[in-house]
Amino acid sequence: MAKTDKTDAEWREQLTPEQYRVLRQKGTERPFTGEYSDTEEKGVYVCAGCGTELFHSETKFDAHCGWPSFYAPASEEHVAEEDDLTHGMRRTEVLCEGCGGHLGHVFPDGPQPTGLRYCINSAALKLEKQE
Ligand code: FE
Repeated sequence: MAKTDKTDAEWREQLTPEQYRVLRQKGTERPFTGEYSDTEEKGVYVCAGCGTELFHSETKFDAHCGWPSFYAPASEEHVAEEDDLTHGMRRTEVLCEGCGGHLGHVFPDGPQPTGLRYCINSAALKLEKQE
């Protein structure tokens, strides 16, 4: 798949401060503040950094956690996962395979068919709406 490799200065110029903080500095937006936490519109969520297709709206569900949540990625090849032991927790970080940007975390408490909950920052996503 296509890879995006930019300098820190280029990312700062391209992204909004909030997108930069989340994607490039592994920040987390405050719950219930993101653009897509309650969105039910149909479409494809792509990476706000590089445009890689990340999640389909059909897999979005209301986890009542304040961040957009999905039970599966659009493609296993479009996301990467890494152990995250920061903040005194053992979590699994989710990153964009296209640009290495931080997206959020995945937890084993989601609905079927996967039982997974991809808890993703709105600032890392851009919804390309479909009718
Ligand atoms: Fe990306």
